[in-house]
Amino acid sequence: MEIKSLKDWGLSPQQPFVIAGPCSVETPEQLDKTVSALVKNGIDMIRGGVWKPRTRPNSFEGVGSIALPWIKEVKEKYGVKFAIEVASPFHVEEALRFGIDMLWVGARSTVNPFTVQEIANSLKGVDVPVLVKNPVNPDLALWIGALERINHAGITRLGAIHRGFSNFNDTVYRNSPTWQIPLELRTRYPQIPLINDPSHISGKRDLIPHIAQMALDLNFDGLIIESHIDPDQAWSDAAQQLKPEALAELIGQLHTRLVSV
Ligand code: PEP
Ligand code: MN
Repeated sequence: MEIKSLKDWGLSPQQPFVIAGPCSVETPEQLDKTVSALVKNGIDMIRGGVWKPRTRPNSFEGVGSIALPWIKEVKEKYGVKFAIEVASPFHVEEALRFGIDMLWVGARSTVNPFTVQEIANSLKGVDVPVLVKNPVNPDLALWIGALERINHAGITRLGAIHRGFSNFNDTVYRNSPTWQIPLELRTRYPQIPLINDPSHISGKRDLIPHIAQMALDLNFDGLIIESHIDPDQAWSDAAQQLKPEALAELIGQLHTRLVSV
């Protein structure tokens, strides 16, 4: 696989590379307030879900394409870059039309080779960074297959997100980290940047520092963390989102601990 290292992605990533932002883009006000607070706290790569893959019907499924002009506006206003999840060629087309800077394939899409191939086909001839979340089930081959499909479409700014693996029984984690799977991915493909998603692994705020520190201690290249201006009022994943100030404090602590190791 021809893969560009993270420092050649044209993002001037901070150390560690952090992507932060709300689980879902909800309203122009929520987006503006969240991005403004994140920027004040040193974040310049924002995430936000536009189309949300919800497990059960009748949950909030994202506001859809109407969020894209709101995103364009905050990108221009604050000079940030923005990443969203894409699950179909339509999502890719819409995201590119509005100048979205980075795409990710979600855990529920990575399990389906048909879906991944359709997304890959829609990326042919496009030069955009793409991150591929691990599949919901602990299947390394499926994760690698999805990375290969996107890479074969010509995407060289390609990264992997470790968001944990689902369980039937409740465990301390929302999704078990099963660290040996991302570590085995890195052994086989050391050139693929590896980003940890402590928010979806933990499912709750309290556990995020422990998981994020573990990832940095294991030399992950970056973190993607959910942050919302008013987490308790979030329309999705309320229990795991951090206020922007709490996120900045966490990053500061991680840095200090890492330096002192
Ligand atoms: C998300 O990032 O908000 C999300 C839906 O994640 P996942 O695909 O990991 O469940
Ligand atoms: Mn989420």
